[in-house]
Amino acid sequence: THGIRSLVAGNWKMHGTSASMPELHAIANGFMQGLDAETEALICVPATLLTRAADVLKSSPVKAGGQDCHANASGAHTGDVSAEMLKDAGASFVIVGHSERRTDHGETDAVVRAKAEAAWRAGLTAIICIGETRLERESGQTLAVLSRQISGSVPASATAANTVIAYEPVWAIGTGLTPTVEDVAEAHAHIRSELSALIGQRAATMRILYGGSVKPSNARELLAIDNVNGALVGGASLKAADFLAIAEAY
Ligand code: PEP
Repeated sequence: THGIRSLVAGNWKMHGTSASMPELHAIANGFMQGLDAETEALICVPATLLTRAADVLKSSPVKAGGQDCHANASGAHTGDVSAEMLKDAGASFVIVGHSERRTDHGETDAVVRAKAEAAWRAGLTAIICIGETRLERESGQTLAVLSRQISGSVPASATAANTVIAYEPVWAIGTGLTPTVEDVAEAHAHIRSELSALIGQRAATMRILYGGSVKPSNARELLAIDNVNGALVGGASLKAADFLAIAEAY
């Protein structure tokens, strides 16, 4: 919408081994046969697959990304992976603050903000995830939660080039449930306006993705909503045919 290049991003979560490479090849091939210049495509794979994924995708327009990074470049952090390591392995994006990280690993807004800054330091674009839980929506707190997460997780120096926001209602992730078109439009307009308050003019072209149970059958409706500049796709990104169909919905 409005001259912003859309982004269709896949998030494989903790799925994928060598056996998944044919699926990635199919995604690369699908996009080589036609990804229009208005759309950017990305697959965020487990760190163990990043080198191979980047190799498979390098002759296609699809980019490879990571799913999380540590805030530091290196150090005594057993089991963690830095943004610099992801970059070195072939990533150009990294997801930070996914609700599963916030829940499983207790990541706070401040931690997420530090990870976004780490992504930039390494030359990666940060995809910062925000979104309300079911209880927060039911108690009418959705917009307040989004405001709090934006002011806490998005660094004030964010630009449209180094940052993408993903609105992912927690209750819509992996459940098959999606908000109404009106609710998505309201949330995205609110996010745009809160970003403007934080970073000024730069907010006008920052991409705001919708995520949560996006599939081929609902992609067209969701991606046509005002201020929706792409999708973050979990489950459906594991199947090349589904991911390609979603990207084509744009
Ligand atoms: C996600 O994990 O970012 C996501 C949106 O998952 P799903 O598409 O499976 O709901």
